[in-house]
Amino acid sequence: MYSCYSCGKTYSLLEPRWRCDCGGFLTLPEEATFPQEAFFNRGYSIWRYRESYLLPSHAPSISLGEGWTPIVTAKIASVEVRFKLDYLMPSGSFKDRGSSVLVSLCKALGIEELVEDSSGNAGASMAAYCAVAGIKCRIFAPAYTPEGKLIQTRLYGAEVVKIPGSRQDTNDAVLKAAATTYYASHLWNPYFVQGHMSAAFELWEQLRGELPRSLLVPLGSGGYLEGIYRGFRTLQLAGLVRTPPRLIGVQAQNCRPLYEAFLLGLDTGAPIETQPTLAEGIAVSRPPRASAVLEAVRRSGGTILSVSEDSIQAAHALLLRYGFYTEPTSAVALAGWLQMPEEERENSMILLTGHGLKESEKIAQIHGVRV
Ligand SMILES: [Zn+2]
Repeated sequence: MYSCYSCGKTYSLLEPRWRCDCGGFLTLPEEATFPQEAFFNRGYSIWRYRESYLLPSHAPSISLGEGWTPIVTAKIASVEVRFKLDYLMPSGSFKDRGSSVLVSLCKALGIEELVEDSSGNAGASMAAYCAVAGIKCRIFAPAYTPEGKLIQTRLYGAEVVKIPGSRQDTNDAVLKAAATTYYASHLWNPYFVQGHMSAAFELWEQLRGELPRSLLVPLGSGGYLEGIYRGFRTLQLAGLVRTPPRLIGVQAQNCRPLYEAFLLGLDTGAPIETQPTLAEGIAVSRPPRASAVLEAVRRSGGTILSVSEDSIQAAHALLLRYGFYTEPTSAVALAGWLQMPEEERENSMILLTGHGLKESEKIAQIHGVRV
């Protein structure tokens, strides 16, 4: 059963729905459902933990082998820090965790065509999983999006619909399309969030329960952080984890509605002015699930940091020096970690979210390398 975060109204999971009639976003219950007895006999992908996502029981597993990404330790500024390489995924970003689960739901609901709006990793990821599932996929993007960012999406066979005008115009256009076609929104859909629970389960299993004290993630819409929180919550309710890590979301100073909200003690995203940022992947000025994200950060005992463009560039250069080839967005979490006091930096883990090979030209430009 879905329930609305704002008004509490409930809906059947078999209804193809992406938000409440009141306009609020939907949530799924927090449960202790964790297939501890079953998963030892299963393969190493997010589907090892299938029951935890609370999908309808007849849902297939639409999978490309996503998940179970490596953990690597590095010593930076004389402190050891661990990285989880979530950019090593089938479509090149952590979003595959969410897409795999959401597209599986769509298949269970008999959906033959869906729409989504994203000019980046989420669009490419949804297109990949729709290709596996045989679902027709239309991705809406602003007309100003560079064609290079859409190539991967197109090559998977998705139709790209370019909308003239602002990001808001694209948003309006996809909502209009959503009146007749299922809107599989990575920003709104609770099943996209459910897929991200898998990162918490993997950490618990890979580290044999010895979890880090702090977990740092780039923070845009916040779905990743919300999902990871829900994953640890599940393990806690199942009696497997006593103290989950503090979740630390890191935003770019140039687009920081959740940072402002956290600072001001608000329950929803703060209205802000935005500037362009190197961390394009987290430039979300009005995250629809903001209330749930803020609640997750607070309940985990964590915080939200914001980092300057210069520090993102410097952190990205550092990642390259350590051999991590990520997109610039991934560097915000390291930039946040570097600005924490040294004693708080101990026993941390940083999630690296998107592959650099998608953006080599931009990366060369950022670091002043001529191509
Ligand atoms: Zn509602």
